[in-house]
Amino acid sequence: MPSVYIKTYGCQMNERDSEAVAAQLVAKGYTLAPSEAVADVILLNTCSVRDFAEQKALNKMVNVIAETRRTRPNVVLGFMGCMAQSRGQELVDRLPDVDLVLGTQKFHHAADYLDELLAGRREKIVDVAAEQGSEATIREHLLYGNAAGNGDGRRPPLQVTAFVSIMQGCNQYCTFCIVPYTRGEERSRSIPDIVAECRQLVSQGVKEITLLGQIVTSYGKRGFGRAELLLGQDAQQRVPTTVVGRAGSPLPADGGASVPASRLVSSLAPPNDTVAHGVTRPSLQESPFVQLLDAVHEIEGLERIRFTSPHPKGYGDDLIEAYARLSKLVEHAHLPVQSGSDRVLKLMHRGYTRARYVSIIEKLRRARPGIGISTDIIVGFPGETEDDFEQTLSLAREVEFDQAYIFKYSQRRDTPAAEMANQVPQKIREERNQRLLEVINEIAKRRFGAFVGRQMQILVEGPSKKNPARMTGRTRCNKIVVFDGSERHRGQLMDVKITRAGSFTLYGDPAILE
Ligand code: SAM
Repeated sequence: MPSVYIKTYGCQMNERDSEAVAAQLVAKGYTLAPSEAVADVILLNTCSVRDFAEQKALNKMVNVIAETRRTRPNVVLGFMGCMAQSRGQELVDRLPDVDLVLGTQKFHHAADYLDELLAGRREKIVDVAAEQGSEATIREHLLYGNAAGNGDGRRPPLQVTAFVSIMQGCNQYCTFCIVPYTRGEERSRSIPDIVAECRQLVSQGVKEITLLGQIVTSYGKRGFGRAELLLGQDAQQRVPTTVVGRAGSPLPADGGASVPASRLVSSLAPPNDTVAHGVTRPSLQESPFVQLLDAVHEIEGLERIRFTSPHPKGYGDDLIEAYARLSKLVEHAHLPVQSGSDRVLKLMHRGYTRARYVSIIEKLRRARPGIGISTDIIVGFPGETEDDFEQTLSLAREVEFDQAYIFKYSQRRDTPAAEMANQVPQKIREERNQRLLEVINEIAKRRFGAFVGRQMQILVEGPSKKNPARMTGRTRCNKIVVFDGSERHRGQLMDVKITRAGSFTLYGDPAILE
């Protein structure tokens, strides 16, 4: 059978899409090649968020073409994901050696398309059309990593963490962002469907699940209808959820996807109302996303829940309350702020102010003392003045992020910001990037240093990438801890004493616990 090599650029959503495509191909009998040099199919899963990411994938394909076409002319070459979606046919016109261009709603067709190309039934395939229901097709996992499908008979170690895609698309239309154009409108999977996938993962040994989406706090608000109440006689009784599909027809409920009846509230119904069954709704109305968290939290054997990326706009009191209430929801929030200046936030169309953002952080820290907070920040957005930038520096100092991903603003086609006047010169973007990085690093050094001497619980994920002789685990507040351990620790929740802090890494010792 042919072998495939997938190289992934960009975010965790892309990682997850690549895994689902690889799992689909393995199920069809493909093997996973250890490198592109020996693969029959080479796919690049692309990112469009910044021009740099697109150029990297384009250059990579140029190199792959140069290396393969001379000696292995029959290797199938393809682009998939965000750049494939936004550029489509243009990619084949520019690089005629490319055989396949697979858009973001088409991943589940990968195996069929590759079969056709490998068999010579079709010469080129470009498919970037929208497809209804595609959000529910990212569901297969490769829990034994890249080694799965190699067929050497050895059982590779299990992955103890997994990503689960809960929705696709984004309707926020931030003026800088290409995502709504590459990922389409928001479309959510049903709660029973997601819970069934999580349950399956847990039954295979997964301990920690990260719920994924471009804007997870908008989960269930559009496109898939509403979480329907199935309140029984007793409002406290746990009941299965029924989810109404697009056309309004009830989808079959998964018997296991139960949430406390008292928490299940239709997102479309007014609060404090009386439902047909004569049961009063709770005053704190839960968003569909919090209902989903409740349902996933019920899964026995699951130890930890994470999610990314939320939008600050979606941090209502119900979500803050969920942090206080749900013990498996870990003490970490990745909350992209983008800027500390209200003027820039407005130009970005973010839908919150600096004061609102800071108040969310304060509430989260009250609900979960010690919560780790990470963020994304863009420097050099069009029209960003020195004063605006200094407000971002002051926000970083005020919030004291544990970690921040800093992006130099990149003009993206068809986005409103690309057409704005006062584009900030590249040199200033770089200089601001450097200045912000210094502030972020200084704060992180202090915050990471404060962990030394403390005892922390980690979930052991596997060998350290830098030094495979050591193991790594992750704290609930999302800090990586490296320690001397062995494969027998994999998947264990264990306490370690932090002995040293590096930049964005902690070092621990399980042996010296008091
Ligand atoms: N959905 C999340 C949100 O907006 O809150 C983040 C998704 S985005 C793919 C990841 C990060 O890339 C964003 O938070 C933003 O900081 C950065 N980003 C997006 N568009 C960008 C652009 N045109 N230039 C530079 N950075 C950008």
